[in-house]
Amino acid sequence: MKLRENVPISELTTMRLGGSARFVAEVSSLQDLREAYEFAENGGISDTSAKTSDTKKPLPVFILGDGANTIGRDEGFPGLIILNRLKGMEVVEETSDDVLVRAMGGENWDAFVGFCSERGYSGIECLSAIPGTVGAAPVQNIGAYGQDISQTIDNVEAYDTKTHEMVVIGRDEMKMSYRSTIFNTGADAGRYFITAVTLRLENDEKLEPPFYNSLQKYLDEHGISDYSPANIRAAVSAIRSEKLPDPAVEASAGSFFKNIHLSDEEAEEAKLKGLKIYDKPNGDHVLNAGWLIEAAGLKGKALPGGFHISDKAALILINDSAKSYKDLEQARAEIVRAVFDKFGFKLSQEPVEIVA
Ligand SMILES: Cc1cc2nc3c(=O)[nH]c(=O)nc-3n(C[C@H](O)[C@H](O)[C@H](O)COP(=O)(O)OP(=O)(O)OC[C@H]3O[C@@H](n4cnc5c(N)ncnc54)[C@H](O)[C@@H]3O)c2cc1C
Repeated sequence: MKLRENVPISELTTMRLGGSARFVAEVSSLQDLREAYEFAENGGISDTSAKTSDTKKPLPVFILGDGANTIGRDEGFPGLIILNRLKGMEVVEETSDDVLVRAMGGENWDAFVGFCSERGYSGIECLSAIPGTVGAAPVQNIGAYGQDISQTIDNVEAYDTKTHEMVVIGRDEMKMSYRSTIFNTGADAGRYFITAVTLRLENDEKLEPPFYNSLQKYLDEHGISDYSPANIRAAVSAIRSEKLPDPAVEASAGSFFKNIHLSDEEAEEAKLKGLKIYDKPNGDHVLNAGWLIEAAGLKGKALPGGFHISDKAALILINDSAKSYKDLEQARAEIVRAVFDKFGFKLSQEPVEIVA
């Protein structure tokens, strides 16, 4: 494993905030991964024989991919951040109906979508151009344009930090719902280091319209009627590159707030107040957080602390010049207050924070 000391978290995360991590280890094999956990368990000493009763306590560990959904705090992290750099993609099994594809957790997610879409495998083409790693994708059940990974995931392989064993976790055990899974919610949050993800995709199938409004509009305007995975992927990528900031150029963590899910009664009440509610085919009622921010008059606006809200996507908070987590707190408070004052709904943050 590649080990570094005192690394600024701002360099490891796309929002570019955060003090230093005491240690950062890049792992590119399962052996590296075990060594990294042993290193943390031994309080930051590589040679276990050197450990004595008065050496340090075990270090806290935080798992990081590309940091596209994670925010560092000013106090940094007093433990070990493990960067997932496990690589590899393969077709495991293919029939005329479906196909099992597997990628290692440190692969780039969009490259994996490309690998699948170019082969004509359908099921994740709408998840094109989402920044980050394969291993992080199941953690918050990434989703976009009507697809989320819960629809196609078959299993993940993971290192169980409690038992120190490799395990296989099946789709039903992951308890996936909107931005929530066993990996980020409840007693087992942070317990599993996902080393590989296997998806079951459709072979030789195409999605059917109607598509999400902006996607449908793009397809119509460009006269695209062949909804092959490669064509849908190209359309989604083009729409996203127009609308969403490139993390390499503008600092953000993508959607900064979660959409709000309402009961039947709450949805009726909200509709009477003129709020735009999306009634999903599965009976779910969704109040779009971006819509609330825009309706509160904040789209494109500069905020205290060196941030602004994207003028193309109201859910995206962009860091122009902030260096401190305190600046983020100010900007976040301003948005939450404006939306609450106008609509009575409290927004909750989507990106996770690195805390010991
Ligand atoms: C411009 C932009 C657009 C975005 N658009 C979308 C979108 O459309 N839809 C969407 O869902 N998200 C979106 N996101 C959020 C982000 O891309 C996803 O959440 C992505 O999965 C994060 O990957 P990552 O490797 O950067 O994860 P990180 O930020 O590194 O980690 C995220 C969380 O997962 C945990 N984690 C990471 N790797 C592992 C692992 N191997 N095992 C266990 N836990 C792990 C971390 O501890 C952390 O809690 C967007 C972000 C940006 C910056």
